[in-house]
Amino acid sequence: MDELVALCKRRGFIFQANEIYGGMQGLYDYGPLGVELKNNIKHSWWASMVYDRDDVEGLDASILTAQNVLKYSGHEDTFTDPMVDCKDCKSRWRADQLDGSQCPGCKSKNLTEPRPFNLMFKTSVGPIDDGTSFAYLRPETAQNIFTNFKNVVDSTSKKLPFGIAQVGKAFRNEITPRNFIFRVREFEQMELEFFCLKGTDEKWHKEWVDARIAWWEAQGVSKDSLELYNVPEDELAHYSKATVDIMYKFPHGLEELEGIANRTDFDLGSHSKNQSELNLDALVKENKDSNSKLAVQDIETKNWNVPYVIEPSAGVERGFLAILNEAYRVESLEGGKERTVLGLKAHLSPIKAAVIPLKRNHDGLVAMAQEIKNELQGLKLGRVLLENSGNIGKSYRRHDEIGTPLCITVDFESLEDGTVTVRDRDSMKQDRLKIQDIKSELKKLINGTDV
Ligand code: ATP
Repeated sequence: MDELVALCKRRGFIFQANEIYGGMQGLYDYGPLGVELKNNIKHSWWASMVYDRDDVEGLDASILTAQNVLKYSGHEDTFTDPMVDCKDCKSRWRADQLDGSQCPGCKSKNLTEPRPFNLMFKTSVGPIDDGTSFAYLRPETAQNIFTNFKNVVDSTSKKLPFGIAQVGKAFRNEITPRNFIFRVREFEQMELEFFCLKGTDEKWHKEWVDARIAWWEAQGVSKDSLELYNVPEDELAHYSKATVDIMYKFPHGLEELEGIANRTDFDLGSHSKNQSELNLDALVKENKDSNSKLAVQDIETKNWNVPYVIEPSAGVERGFLAILNEAYRVESLEGGKERTVLGLKAHLSPIKAAVIPLKRNHDGLVAMAQEIKNELQGLKLGRVLLENSGNIGKSYRRHDEIGTPLCITVDFESLEDGTVTVRDRDSMKQDRLKIQDIKSELKKLINGTDV
């Protein structure tokens, strides 16, 4: 983990938030390369969920969430972690993460009894802060997918089974944020709520577990680093009938990367009016505030069905950490030297190609490198860099370390015959190619096809 943290800071992937004022625990900022990798992960998820399927629509809902949404969702009552205080050093800890009954800070056993601590952030809304007009920062993106269920159905005429996908920020006031970006207070989720008829829910649950594992593998996370955990009944969230966690071997241990829950008819039922007409399976709080029935009507029987929901919910930051960890390697080279490589899948690489003139500030070489850069950038495959450093070896090392799949060197021969040296990050093999051929090479590498 220390090596990954150091690489992230050194190369501009991730910085401690508010660092110049001493930093703030559990918050991180994503630098020039981090934002590219993060966007690429989110884009890959969105493409697989929305573009590659015919049964999923997208949504981007607000972060500030009305109290009623999180009251009826059950979060006000149950979204808590057990907290203990150390009476000696005054530190606070999550009771379920203690090793025995000892304070991890000062090793004292003088701890309070655990008490529930609600993880939701509250903020006041409007010009008068008298405590009555407040909203929550959403603790998961899911809830406003549920509250928009009818809007999406009415505007798209979607029929069951179908899903609504959303990527966006979520906030949890974690008692002990830790392990770099693994547990933070502000993060992003990639969530799909997949609505299906009761009775088909278990089949869909299994299908989504398989689909999600396949997606992680396509991002370069090897199957050997993943494990499935069937959450036991006494650990299930209040809305869940069954949950399968995809666990990843993080540098600090085996922990949850993504959860795939069968949320039954709990959420749509909870946010609906006239619940007694809906034949709900889930035990829900009586709702006197909603003005909507979140159900679909069977055309033949005219019965109202409240769909069951399967929810694959993945954290972008945990995905980022897993993908970095999988990609990171230090290789021994001849002469006792080493090189650090981020073997990222090309579609995730922050920089797709670097174009390097052999000599710094040489008019002819730089002009040609700039032209190649512009042509490759024009393919719209992601960011391409002109590396006018004049030090080829150093540029190769930097680009190996940040995961750039191709480095293209423009030399004096290039000026004569229009060919350049193309170096592959993983094999370090160098080929002489014409500019036209680099374009299709790059397309193949990133899209899997040069069309
Ligand atoms: P944990 O048990 O690790 O706290 P959780 O079961 O509460 O996680 P979910 O509510 O299932 O997490 O959230 C779905 C996903 O959101 C998780 O699988 C994880 O990837 C991500 N996530 C949840 N909490 C955090 C956090 N504090 N920091 C970063 N990612 C998070």
